[in-house]
Amino acid sequence: MTIPLVDLKAQYLSIKDEIDAAIQRVVDSTSFILGPDVRAFEEEFARFCGVQHAVGVDSGTAALHLAFLACGIGPGDEVITTPHTFIATIGMLGRVGARPVFVDIDPQTYNIDPTRIEAAITERTKAIMPVHLYGQPAEMDSILEIADRHGLKVIEDAAQAHGAEYKGRRAGSMGHVAIFSFYPGKNLGAYGDAGALVTNDGEIAEKARLLRNHGRRDKYEHLLQGFNYRIDTLQAAILRAKLAHLEEWNEARRRHAATYRELLSDLDLVLPYEPGHVRAVYHLLVVRLPERDALREHLRDRGISTGIHYPIPLHLQPAYRHLGYKEGDFPATEECARQVLSLPMYPELTPTQVEEVARAIKEFLRV
Ligand SMILES: *Cc1c(COP(=O)(O)O)cnc(C)c1O
Repeated sequence: MTIPLVDLKAQYLSIKDEIDAAIQRVVDSTSFILGPDVRAFEEEFARFCGVQHAVGVDSGTAALHLAFLACGIGPGDEVITTPHTFIATIGMLGRVGARPVFVDIDPQTYNIDPTRIEAAITERTKAIMPVHLYGQPAEMDSILEIADRHGLKVIEDAAQAHGAEYKGRRAGSMGHVAIFSFYPGKNLGAYGDAGALVTNDGEIAEKARLLRNHGRRDKYEHLLQGFNYRIDTLQAAILRAKLAHLEEWNEARRRHAATYRELLSDLDLVLPYEPGHVRAVYHLLVVRLPERDALREHLRDRGISTGIHYPIPLHLQPAYRHLGYKEGDFPATEECARQVLSLPMYPELTPTQVEEVARAIKEFLRV
């Protein structure tokens, strides 16, 4: 038996008729650019997130770029965020002339440690950007309170957290603006690249909507210098078909997480922590142990795929050497980078497969 980290084929087969019909509908209409499925998807996704507006774009990275621009973040500005995330979180910051300022994580949740944020605020700080990493919401009450006190924007990177909840509020609905990625492997994934910006702020939504489409008000009049960041109608149609299943898929992920937790409790490895006031959606199922690399090899030899999210913290990436950070600056992040291991996690995983993974881990730990 081989167990992949993610199985996109199993998901397609489970709703093949719906996906095929959605694709055929768009092909038949030939309305490939900003067709009716785009607006319908935006409305449905906004409702799913509990926000007023969603703007579909062609990647989570594009959504971040538009979020920074719509929040007025520009040259010389600083944005406080976590070094333990995918590089796209900060990729566009440099492109608007701003600079990421890192704050170490809480190793229990893997998210930005709110108790360390205030010390990082300067007169150049414009925003705080929490990432709901692995589908686990960041500690938003503290973050929003700090932002409020200092007049800062909050930009949620919810790329891994579609449907996650913090005290009953959905990821993406708590900050001034939030971004989602629909990269194929995400909890809601397109069949290619796609993303969205969501917000309750009508002005931010309007600006993002203009910027994603050449700053265009109508065909030949351009109010802003924009981009071509449009989501494809095909992707929007596929995402609509999949959005209808997202709740049940997130529930399945939560069931698998509970099974993993049950089978792996009381062992020498750190399990995902889910405080009572959040609903995590387990984009990734991450455990932590010092012998991470040896366990990874042991599982690979038994046909079980794993991942590492992420092995090199952002402050130690060659591309960001100019920021002047060094090894030792963020000890919790650096230890997690050495110890985290992502186990197979996707809705279609079977209980037998989870048991198989747990058995192989116990064999490695000799229990
Ligand atoms: C996937 C991801 C992104 C960016 O998404 P793309 O759609 O690949 O551009 C941003 N932030 C995080 C945390 C992600 O996981």
